[in-house]
Amino acid sequence: MRYIPRVSAAEDDWSTRHSVLTTARRTAALVNVLADDRPDPGGVAAVLLAYGETGPVELDPGEVAGMREAADLLREVFEAATADEAATVLNRLLREHTGPLRLTSHGGTGPWHAHIDRDDDAPWAEWLLASSCMALAVLVWDRQRPPGRTCASGSCRNVFVAQGSGPERRYCSRRCATRERVAAHRGRHSAEGSGGSAQDPV
Ligand SMILES: [Zn+2]
Repeated sequence: MRYIPRVSAAEDDWSTRHSVLTTARRTAALVNVLADDRPDPGGVAAVLLAYGETGPVELDPGEVAGMREAADLLREVFEAATADEAATVLNRLLREHTGPLRLTSHGGTGPWHAHIDRDDDAPWAEWLLASSCMALAVLVWDRQRPPGRTCASGSCRNVFVAQGSGPERRYCSRRCATRERVAAHRGRHSAEGSGGSAQDPV
């Protein structure tokens, strides 16, 4: 089973539930859970609930298939190496898949926030693509950097949202970072043992 990060109770409140960063993180979590050949509808629903969707969330296989197509399109944004590339991908997705900017409070049940899907009852796939494009576009605008990355581990396809300041994060999780560090360490040691001409990998 995939690791699904819980949004902390402090984050899950009226004012921050719809924050841009939370929305972008939800996009990354959904792109990851939808990367399976046959994504588990329960697993997809669990991510939605973890990010503040009010339950119950029941997804049928057709809805999950639609969300998977949206996730494949969104993955391209995470694969962009530069802000220019990310903006080019996002502009194409915005042009081809989203409606005009509008504000909604979902009938007064939440804070006013921006949507670019066609209406509040849009299908899950349309909602996923539109809400994700919006959040990722704002992050490019705000940071002038690609909004996310793909995990540097060759055995992992996960995407993640790149954080603001500090050293660039390369792996989706501590687990991937540790596994790759151990593998690199072992590789170095076996190279040293086999002739001594090994150079430290850069
Ligand atoms: Zn990873």
